[in-house]
Amino acid sequence: MEKIEKIRHSLAHVLALAVQELYPGTKFGIGPAIENGFYYDFDFTNLREFGHEYTRISNEDLSKIEKKMKEIIKKNIVFKKKFVEKEEAKEIFKDQPYKLELIEEIPEKRVSIYESGNFIDLCAGPHVKSTKEININAFKLVKIAGAYWKGDEKNPMLTRIYGIAFETKKELERFFQVQKEAEERDHRILGKKMELFVFDEEVGAGLPIWQPKGAILRKIIENYLYEELKKEGYQWVVTPHIGNLKLWKTSGHWEMYRENIYSPIKIDEEAYLLKPMNCPFHLKVYQSKIRSYKDLPIKYAEFGTVYRYERSGTLHGLARVRGFTQDDAHIFCTPEQLAKEIEKLLRHGLKILKTFGFKEYSIYLATQPEKFAGTEKMWKKAMAVLKYVLEKQKLKYQIDPGGGVFYGPKIDIHIKDCLQREWQCTTIQVDFNLPERFELSFIDKKGKKQRPIMIHRALIGSMERFIGVLLENYKGALPLWLAPEQIWIIPVGSRHKKYANFVNQQIRNCNFRGVIKKENETVSKKIRDGEIQKIPYMLVVGDKEMKEKLVRVRKRQKGDMGEMKIENFLEKIKKEVIKKK
Ligand SMILES: [Zn+2]
Ligand SMILES: [Zn+2]
Repeated sequence: MEKIEKIRHSLAHVLALAVQELYPGTKFGIGPAIENGFYYDFDFTNLREFGHEYTRISNEDLSKIEKKMKEIIKKNIVFKKKFVEKEEAKEIFKDQPYKLELIEEIPEKRVSIYESGNFIDLCAGPHVKSTKEININAFKLVKIAGAYWKGDEKNPMLTRIYGIAFETKKELERFFQVQKEAEERDHRILGKKMELFVFDEEVGAGLPIWQPKGAILRKIIENYLYEELKKEGYQWVVTPHIGNLKLWKTSGHWEMYRENIYSPIKIDEEAYLLKPMNCPFHLKVYQSKIRSYKDLPIKYAEFGTVYRYERSGTLHGLARVRGFTQDDAHIFCTPEQLAKEIEKLLRHGLKILKTFGFKEYSIYLATQPEKFAGTEKMWKKAMAVLKYVLEKQKLKYQIDPGGGVFYGPKIDIHIKDCLQREWQCTTIQVDFNLPERFELSFIDKKGKKQRPIMIHRALIGSMERFIGVLLENYKGALPLWLAPEQIWIIPVGSRHKKYANFVNQQIRNCNFRGVIKKENETVSKKIRDGEIQKIPYMLVVGDKEMKEKLVRVRKRQKGDMGEMKIENFLEKIKKEVIKKK
């Protein structure tokens, strides 16, 4: 375990110790290290018995607890590990019902406990040797939240206190700075301001509704991908949103992936599923004809909307939803073609990400998971191909142990946004299993039947999440080619409206997206609105512009650029769109 994780986990114990000293009578849940910090769950419900006025703690209590933690750390408390018989442990924790519950669940005869000062916790460790290793200026308690014991809503609600911790004060400060930046870039807020999408309780959690501007943005991305895929020899298919359960039994998804699939619906006495994946449909398209080696590789693409169950607590704006559209495709090829196809996919995927402005990424090679289909031999073969291609293209990658899909290993690309946060996007998955299950074949050179290999791949991943990432990366200021409204035309007075129409017609004739702002508001108010909505260009037209066929150009983030002939302005932005900047 890394040192920082030990520090974070030890801080959870220090937090519990501080709470124990300040609020005797507290019942303790658990306190693990988490990403960037730690938490501990407490049950404060019987604090009254111990003379406290309240049974809840508030944000004001946090600074009191934090101060106490610092005092404790300064005392240089040592963490001592001990093994005790279960019976003895039950005696030690006799007033701690949650700990007793945990002890019952441990299969071994003996359990490990940690002593730190006056606090004893049921814990496997590891920890720092003593609190000397913890920098008192490098942690902070940040929030209080409700959390059900063991995450189950049938259990009591506990109070969870979260802390952030690093090894140095500098890292802690950097974390809060990035967090502040991230809040300003939150796609949920930007999406609302820019009128791209909404969530509505009556519609349901995790189901975004795309407003007109959001729908345009999706269309722009789809059109771009469509043109790109055409060049790479993909064929387009369209498949249903539901399918007979039999299909998912054959594919193995029903068995391996059930927790993410919604309950079947009944149609004419048969069970149907809302599709969690597009793959089986594409297999059916392949099956619809006899295939020869001369036809391969065959590439089917679809913007396929899939529905997957996600727990309500994990839903987050567009980043995690219950219905989303994949830029999905499946490639069927011969074993000899596999390496070359993977190579093409990687190159193409990285090119597309770069066009959208993502030049940095991490690559993960995900290996065999616990629940898997197919034989060990198939898995080994597929892994070898993926490794070979990554190494041939000199791409740096990390192993994601056990992260593969049940039917095969995969390469995942996580893009890094401008805050260096990683987002899962591209996935390329090798599959020897589904062609087997669906008994796919092609006729080889000798006229014999052979099994093709299938590659599942999505380049941007989910349209929803990708748009969320785009918004956060650009802070809403999308490049001109992606902006749903590229140009606002602002007439100074009502007598300039006709000329504004003329300007907009020129804009539209060149395939740009222009909008005339006709509202009865001042020019400066309209400009302010345009800035909030991150409109790339605003053209103000008044008497002079009308007379001389000019436009006064305001560029986003740059401000007034002076007057220009309409043709010159259009020439300028044409270049910008071609460069996709
Ligand atoms: Zn511990
Ligand atoms: Zn698939």
